[in-house]
Amino acid sequence: MTDIDIIRDNVHELERLAQLAEEAAELAQAALKLRRVYKSTGNPTPVTLQGAYQNLLEELADVKVCLAVLNLDASGTQWRVDQLAEEKLQRWAERLRPIETEA
Ligand SMILES: [Mg+2]
Repeated sequence: MTDIDIIRDNVHELERLAQLAEEAAELAQAALKLRRVYKSTGNPTPVTLQGAYQNLLEELADVKVCLAVLNLDASGTQWRVDQLAEEKLQRWAERLRPIETEA
C-alpha cells in the first residue's frame, strides 16, 4: 500500500479538499512574504531571502501532495490542466502585447 493510498483510505475527500485550500492559502502567504523580502515596502521582515524562497518551495510541495491525494495529478486531469494553463498563458501574454509594442 502506498503512502497516497493510506492517506486516501483514512482522510475523507472533503477533508483532503480542505487541506488543499489550507495549503493553497499558505502558498499565497509564502509568495507574498517572498515579494515583501524582494521589495522593500516600508514594512521590514526578519525573514531572509533564502528562508522565504525555501518556504515557498515547501508550500508548493504541500500543494503538490494535496493534488496527489485528491487524484488531481492523474494524467487525464493533468492533460486538461496543462491545456487550460496554455490558454491562460496566451491570454495573459495577449493582455501585455499592447504594452510591449508601446515600449
Ligand atoms: Mg503548508
